[in-house]
Amino acid sequence: MAKNGKPQFVEIPMSQDDSLTPYQFPFPTEALEEIVVPDAAALDEREWVPQAKNVWFRPLCLNRSQGYWMNLLKVKQAGVLSRHRHAQPVHGWVIKGKWHYLEHDWVATEGSYVFEPPGETHTLVVPEGVDEMITFFQVNGVMIYVDPMGETLGYEDVFTKIDMCKRHYEAVGLGADYVQRYIR
Ligand code: FE
Repeated sequence: MAKNGKPQFVEIPMSQDDSLTPYQFPFPTEALEEIVVPDAAALDEREWVPQAKNVWFRPLCLNRSQGYWMNLLKVKQAGVLSRHRHAQPVHGWVIKGKWHYLEHDWVATEGSYVFEPPGETHTLVVPEGVDEMITFFQVNGVMIYVDPMGETLGYEDVFTKIDMCKRHYEAVGLGADYVQRYIR
């Protein structure tokens, strides 16, 4: 709250001595284990799960308890992510390359952050001249694949993602259980 037009700060009690002392108690027994992915850009090609022609995803957190997933989406030149509707928001951060939606006139370039509100129906396209596009996406709930008139063709959610990972990791020799490290 401002007083006399000046910001007021709450003084946090902290002595010089304990500022680098870790928290002294165990975390809650029910708390889930953290996930740390050292090679998040996945140099090991086997980590990338094929999704469509020229499209792959690499799971980072498959959150079955809250129904969302965090992943890297990779699209090679001429790749298209099929038209789909979101009932919940999506957050994206472009790591490499650029892309656009057929339904919008803006371009998501390297370094861009994108918020996609609930109600979006879009078709992601990587333009000619981009060898590779990688974007970090947090997708909530369900992606409903539709035709141009909005008729439902299929869907994806965290559970279909987990199934795709299991099948792929089994096929490339990592084993179906490899996906467990990304599930919370
Ligand atoms: Fe989308």
